[in-house]
Amino acid sequence: MNNAARPKVALVGAGPGDPELLTLKAIKALRRATVVLVDDLVHPGVLKYLKRSARVLHVGKRGGCISTSQIFIHKLMVAEALRGECVVRLKGGDPFVFGRGGEECDALREAGIQVEVVNGLTSGLAAPAAIGVPVTDRRHAPGVALVTGHSGEAATEPDWAALARSGLTLVIYMGVGRVQQIAAALRAGGLAGSTAAAVVSHAHTARQRHALCDLDSLAATIRREGLQSPAILVIGDVVQASPWWQASTPQCRAPQAPPNPLEVAQPGSGARRPAAAKRA
Ligand code: SAH
Repeated sequence: MNNAARPKVALVGAGPGDPELLTLKAIKALRRATVVLVDDLVHPGVLKYLKRSARVLHVGKRGGCISTSQIFIHKLMVAEALRGECVVRLKGGDPFVFGRGGEECDALREAGIQVEVVNGLTSGLAAPAAIGVPVTDRRHAPGVALVTGHSGEAATEPDWAALARSGLTLVIYMGVGRVQQIAAALRAGGLAGSTAAAVVSHAHTARQRHALCDLDSLAATIRREGLQSPAILVIGDVVQASPWWQASTPQCRAPQAPPNPLEVAQPGSGARRPAAAKRA
C-alpha cells in the first residue's frame, strides 16, 4: 500500500485551554476529522471547528476519576482508522508532553497506521506565561526543566536532588497532590526554602487562578487558596519577574492583580488589588 492510501491518525495538541491558542494546523485537522477522541483537559470551545457530522468520543483520563484505559484508546483509534475514518486524537496542551502521545504513536505505527503529530502549546510554558513568568529569562536561570510531580514511584520519580542543584527553573506538571513531598525533596536536595514559587491553576481558562509564595510555604498556600488540578507549579528565581510578584508583599502573595492588568493576560481573574499597587 502506498503512503497516500495508508490510514492515518492525527495526534493533535489543543493547547492549555483558550481555543485562541490552537494552531492553524490543529484547526485544519479538526475541520477534516470524522471521528475525534477527546481528552478531558481539552476546552470544549475547541470542538466548534469540527464538522457537524463528526463523531466525538470523550476518553478522559483525569487522575482519580473513572477513565478509559490507555489500551482501549489505542484499540479504538486503530479500529476507526482502519474503517477509513479520518481520526483526530485531541489532547490537552502538547501531545508529546506528559500526554502519552509517544505510546499512542507506537500503538498506531505497530498497526500500520501513519501518524501526523500536530504540536500544541504546552501548559508548562503557557501557565507561567499567563502570570508573566519568562521561564528561561537568562538573568535568572540557564534553562527550564519540565517534570512530572505525579510519579511517586522510584523508577520514574524525578531526581529532585539533582534538580535542586541544577539552577534550572522547575516547571512541575501534576504536582498539586504531592506538593508537600516535592517541596521536602527539593529542600533536602539543597534548594533554599526562600526560593520563589508559583502555582497556576486552570491556566488560560475562565477559572484561571494563581498564587505566588516561596518554596517553604507552597503546600500551605495551595491548601489555603484552594488551588486545584489542573495546575502547574513553577519554582525558581524567575518567578520574581512576574508583575504579580513585584506588586505583592511577602505576607500577601496569593491571587493578586499586576500593576497594569492589561500587560498580562489573566482570563477570569477574581483578583484583589495588591497592597503594593495601592502604595504606588
Ligand atoms: N499534554 C499536556 C499535559 C498533560 S498532563 C500539556 O502539554 O499541557 C496533565 C497536567 O498538565 C495537569 O495535571 C496540569 O499539571 C497540567 N495542565 C494541563 N492543562 C493545564 C491548565 N490549563 N492549567 C494548568 N495546568 C494544566
